[in-house]
Amino acid sequence: MKSPTYALHWFRRDLRVAGNEALHRLREDYDGRVVGVFCFDKKFLARHDFSHNRFQFFLNTLAALKAELKAIGSDLIFMDVSPDEGFQSLFSKLQKAKMPLPQSVGWNRDYEPYARLRDERMQLWFQAQGVHTLNERDHILVEPHEIVKATKPIGPYQIFTPYSRKWREQFKTDDVQRRVAFQAKGLKYLRAYRKGNIPKLFDLNWDEILGKGKDGWDVFEEYSKANAVKVEVVIPEAGSLAALKRLEEFRKDIDDFETARDVPSVDGTSRFSIFLKNGSLTTAQAIAAYDLGTERKQSSGEQKFFSELIWREFGYYILSKHPRVESEAFDHRFQNITWTNNEKWFDAWKKGQTGYPIVDAGMRQLNTTGWMHNRVRMIVASFLTKDLHVNWQHGEKYFMEKLIDGDLALNNMGWQWAASTGCDAQPYFRIFNP
Ligand SMILES: Cc1cc2nc3c(=O)[nH]c(=O)nc-3n(C[C@H](O)[C@H](O)[C@H](O)COP(=O)(O)OP(=O)(O)OC[C@H]3O[C@@H](n4cnc5c(N)ncnc54)[C@H](O)[C@@H]3O)c2cc1C
Repeated sequence: MKSPTYALHWFRRDLRVAGNEALHRLREDYDGRVVGVFCFDKKFLARHDFSHNRFQFFLNTLAALKAELKAIGSDLIFMDVSPDEGFQSLFSKLQKAKMPLPQSVGWNRDYEPYARLRDERMQLWFQAQGVHTLNERDHILVEPHEIVKATKPIGPYQIFTPYSRKWREQFKTDDVQRRVAFQAKGLKYLRAYRKGNIPKLFDLNWDEILGKGKDGWDVFEEYSKANAVKVEVVIPEAGSLAALKRLEEFRKDIDDFETARDVPSVDGTSRFSIFLKNGSLTTAQAIAAYDLGTERKQSSGEQKFFSELIWREFGYYILSKHPRVESEAFDHRFQNITWTNNEKWFDAWKKGQTGYPIVDAGMRQLNTTGWMHNRVRMIVASFLTKDLHVNWQHGEKYFMEKLIDGDLALNNMGWQWAASTGCDAQPYFRIFNP
């Protein structure tokens, strides 16, 4: 190796190079001597709501990421174990090969309860090995701890409107504006990369560290092969370049978003959710690309779209402040509802055979494409919980099994909203007319 010091970037749900906060900092600190690591964590893959559709999109995104990293002078290794075992085995391989350990390991923060515990544990472990750690904000634009409620009652926000007001205040600060500007730079890099103008940003690869053919590509291929046969839908094009393409396509539709988003038969929404889920696109990039939330006069569509992105951040805020919502009702009053949970009705709902056209159309869209329009998600969720009296958690799980954009924070918020068990949810007596 040219220099003994180098760093590892641990990729999780930040599958992009453009504007990747921790990766960028490591690159600067280590003069481009940074390589990527990805662990196929079996615990995560064995989750009760695992989706082959979503995993395939994730795998395709990983493949695009590896190709991009290689093109710009870095690389990505795949390990078939949890990060605990993976880094341990990687470090002992390095020691056996008389290679220095990385000086730093960096990652971008994750807000899901499982991930937070994992990261705390790994941070301690790295430190015990004498390896520095660095973690950055990346997945969301304004982090939960930055939204501080100064008014009574004390405690986190529970209602979207005051949260959103505070978020917008925070958005105007120099610090957050710098974050957006950094994403604009990232998009510039990505456009140039697409044109074939490929910069040499990094200067280290796994061949150099471990020897040829030890980058775990065989592991990746095995996962791809095993998963591909279980995929039920056509997987959309994945990766940062596909996200950029979609970002550019939606520009012509954003001004009509406020009205078009209410009509499920119209293809009037961004379809960004699949990319946002795995970090091949971020809220900040969309804001930077469209110059949203600035002094510039914004169309009603742009304003609405900006507000939807804040809803997204609200979902993460709620999960981060109240991790218990992963397994229980946010509102304790609705924790012990006696649901009917009729299996036959639930099955008919899943298959799109309830006899209610809009419900059935939505469920069939989900089953055949891995995506469903927001308005229809609201209708089918209301129908399952308030007409069929099936526990919202059953619907939540089914969505997670099918959705390519399935995301704990947002899916949970959506279901608890529809079932009226969540924070700032619709009142329990409001039932959508299917
Ligand atoms: C029952 C239910 C379950 C849901 N499950 C998920 C999920 O698992 N993953 C997911 O990403 N979204 C979920 N949503 C929110 C929303 O329906 C989707 O984000 C949206 O339909 C995705 O399509 P789009 O990207 O074209 O959205 P657009 O309408 O173009 O919106 C742009 C972005 O804003 C955010 N956004 C839009 N609406 C919401 C909302 N109501 N809450 C939070 N963020 C929003 C999303 O990140 C979305 O990609 C759920 C909503 C409900 C009612």
